[in-house]
Amino acid sequence: MRSRDYPGVQVALSMMFAKGLLRRGYGLARTGDGESVQHRAPGIPALWLVASFYVIAYVLLDGLDDIQPVLKLGIAPWNPQAGLTLAFLIYYGPARAWLTAIAVVLAAALTSGTTLSWGGMLVPVTLIPGGYAAAAWLLRPQPGSWTHRLPLDAPIDSSRYVFRLIGVGVGVALLVSAGLTWPFEAAPHWPADAMLQGFSQRWIGDLNGVLTVTPLLLAAPHWRSALAAIARRRREVLAQALVVVAALALLVWLWMDVKLRVLYPMFAPMVWIAFRWGVAATAFYTLVSEIGLLMALRGEAPTLAGPQLLLLTLAATGLLLASVVAERRASEVRLRERDKALARAMRFAALGEFASAITHELNQPITALVSYLRSAQILAEPLAGRDPRLLGTLNKAAQEAIRTSDILRGLRDFYQGAPPQLAVVRLEDITASALSGHEERLRQHGVRLHDTLRPGLPPLSCDRTQLEMVVHNLLTNALDAVVAGGGARREIHIGAVRAGSDVLLTVEDSGQGVSSEITAQLFNPFVTTKADGMGLGLAISRSLLRSQGGDLLAERSMLGGARFVVRLPMAAAAQLAP
Ligand code: ADP
Repeated sequence: MRSRDYPGVQVALSMMFAKGLLRRGYGLARTGDGESVQHRAPGIPALWLVASFYVIAYVLLDGLDDIQPVLKLGIAPWNPQAGLTLAFLIYYGPARAWLTAIAVVLAAALTSGTTLSWGGMLVPVTLIPGGYAAAAWLLRPQPGSWTHRLPLDAPIDSSRYVFRLIGVGVGVALLVSAGLTWPFEAAPHWPADAMLQGFSQRWIGDLNGVLTVTPLLLAAPHWRSALAAIARRRREVLAQALVVVAALALLVWLWMDVKLRVLYPMFAPMVWIAFRWGVAATAFYTLVSEIGLLMALRGEAPTLAGPQLLLLTLAATGLLLASVVAERRASEVRLRERDKALARAMRFAALGEFASAITHELNQPITALVSYLRSAQILAEPLAGRDPRLLGTLNKAAQEAIRTSDILRGLRDFYQGAPPQLAVVRLEDITASALSGHEERLRQHGVRLHDTLRPGLPPLSCDRTQLEMVVHNLLTNALDAVVAGGGARREIHIGAVRAGSDVLLTVEDSGQGVSSEITAQLFNPFVTTKADGMGLGLAISRSLLRSQGGDLLAERSMLGGARFVVRLPMAAAAQLAP
């Protein structure tokens, strides 16, 4: 079987390879109130496996090239390997571009029949990886960048990101194609119009590959839910498939028989799919239309620039439409979450009244209790000689009474929404103090603590006591999880990094992770899986952090358990520093 005769089969094969890559990629987890956070899934396959998946998929896809006699370069109607490369480098980082260089050499040697000399190969081997590495850097995932304002699941759900993808895609396709065509300009036997045709077909082909394959791979977090939805609504899918086939048939008829080079028939199913199924399905539809049309128009090579441009329009419109629909859905989710948050706030306010009344009632007797205990200490002093434990016991009783009074006051302030006392705080001090409270339990259960906090982190602007409460609670939960997990690996990692004008503090553990039953309500009050738990720790921690301009997010940890990320703004002076 000559690979180029069966583009559909080859794309399917390559997609299977590509899906393997995504096992390691950043999937996205939904947390408490619908927010999405980036996480790296556990069980990362070894790099050689990922690399082979990518390189094999690249070579297979490169075999699709319809080499034209115009230039020695493989000029294809579309270059899906360009899209695969971009997605790969976005997921795994531009530094992996050396794998692209290997793929380019292998593809040239195995499939495209290129007869370029070693010197001539230098251009593609440096330009393709270099260009796509730069593009991937421009499109790199920035924590929170697309999930910050709306609860979006994948980068491609945001229309801003789609615009960026189109812009960067145009740039890299132009750069790579110009670079690859340029060496031939010097050769006098290449006619100028052939050069131009080669250049334009190459860059549009690259861009088409980017706009069809990259979004489909970047929409990977939706694949599973899209398949589940398809399984639920089979009839609608069947109806859509029929409409797609009819549209393709109409299109081919218009092109071949009527010689009417239009793409309108493909738009109706696209709009339907974008509205009903979202970004992943729309990207898939664009891919299918592209393959269908190119197969139908085989042999029309010299006129390929026309279909290429039309497919480009279809891909760009489809993506933008689907991402706008995704954004709309996300903002609806956010509105619903707001409603729920409001209801929760009302409950909190009621609790606040209750706490305030109790504090008021209990404060006086407790204050009296403290002063009686102090008097008892003085009265007991002459008796201390007989039994020294008496004074110590009275002292402990007084301390506990004072602590009770503090807790009650803290609870009242919290429920009544007392403003946080913002101060400039050093994170190292907070974690050191929270850790000292857990030393005994860590030792008792043989839990290893990795504290990677480096001195020199910028100071934070936050309420010191409240942040201590949060970190204390996260460590307690991590310890509970590790101990309950009962596994041989007992680890807690604590670290911090600077992210823009914020600092991210992470506490992660090797426990069994957040139970799937409560993931969706993790940050809601009174949600707990512990027999003696109140289920208030995370709810209160998040409220406290948000009232200080920060946040608390949950992710999956590479240690196997949960990872909680505290985000807090840096102190104003530190923000000015680089
Ligand atoms: P509580 O600890 O009283 O249950 P929290 O609000 O602190 O209340 O935690 C709520 C629930 O979230 C816990 O019962 C537990 O199921 C889950 N949870 C919190 N932290 C972790 C963690 N590090 N690993 C696994 N599950 C966790």
